[in-house]
Amino acid sequence: MIPRILLPALLLFFACHSARKPSTDAAAAVVFAERPKNIILMIGDGMATPQISAGLYWKGAGKSVWEQFSVVGFHKSHSADEKVTDSAAGATAFSCGQKTSNGAIAVLPPDNRPCRTILEELDARGWATGMVVTCSATHATPASFIAHQDIRAYTESIAEDYLNTQLDCFIGGGSGYFDDRPDKKNLLDTLKKRGYVIRRGTGFARLPLDGAAPFMLFTAEREPPTASANRRYLPEATNKACQYLQKRSPKGFFLMVEGSQIDWALHANDRNWLKAEMIDFDATVTAALEFARTDGNTLVIVTGDHECGGASLNPGESKQTFRPGFASRMHSAAMVPVFAFGPKAELFSGIYDNTAIYSKMWAALGN
Ligand code: MG
Ligand code: ZN
Repeated sequence: MIPRILLPALLLFFACHSARKPSTDAAAAVVFAERPKNIILMIGDGMATPQISAGLYWKGAGKSVWEQFSVVGFHKSHSADEKVTDSAAGATAFSCGQKTSNGAIAVLPPDNRPCRTILEELDARGWATGMVVTCSATHATPASFIAHQDIRAYTESIAEDYLNTQLDCFIGGGSGYFDDRPDKKNLLDTLKKRGYVIRRGTGFARLPLDGAAPFMLFTAEREPPTASANRRYLPEATNKACQYLQKRSPKGFFLMVEGSQIDWALHANDRNWLKAEMIDFDATVTAALEFARTDGNTLVIVTGDHECGGASLNPGESKQTFRPGFASRMHSAAMVPVFAFGPKAELFSGIYDNTAIYSKMWAALGN
């Protein structure tokens, strides 16, 4: 038992102790740098509170990655023209910090003028940049960080925009948009001439992971398989990309990681597919946190672009189970949680527009 007279002194000691380390994440017991050098922006497409809740229950209490974050906020996902956003306008809000029209890839109303993305700007300033996704390179979310097109369906033009920015690494699907095109151009040959290492499959052994060259690893000719059909590369690809990008530039890196198919499972109202995608994304976020915890200079932000499926968690067969239900096969306007970990994570608490994620990332970097 502690003598009563010592209690105030002890409480004061603990209060001072915790106040002395403002950049410490209590849950992780890690001391972070004052500002991040690296940013990992992770997007679960179609992922909002119901999907995260389902993922948390599927993993079991205390086992999901979501419970490792001490900073959580919410963003308002609406686009410039609709209460309900699509993934192009949703990703453009993150990449450019501006609301745009649904379907627009990093171009702004009223005249579709291109907006400079955070990936393009950091690349120009000498940061290393990468994208790791489970869709094709030309799909709306990755496209909105590197391409500028009026309509997301212009996939061949989006692929050509990959020639305008020297992205250091890409892992995902869609090689066919580069080398099996109606205009017969072979963009992969052009990229090779510029020093890119181009590989196919899901093996990491033959990649220049020492940082010697930029690379694209195509995991599929068009869209990669579903997590429920045993697609497994996203967690390891995220880890490999972090290690590689860290070697590519002393300034720091920006990595966008997308759990692209969470949204597709929701459009299909497919519970088993959704479960496989949420467990895969949980492992992917875990991989990013493991890197960030060791590194101490990395800010990890995890969010969705919008809710999809109007998902709900209904009673299951027993007290322990639940049965996800769906109100629609479309996106909805529900607020989307934002989880942050690392230096300046505290900037991401509160309720704000999706465009604020862009300005908060810059604020974290000291701009
Ligand atoms: Mg997407
Ligand atoms: Zn969708």
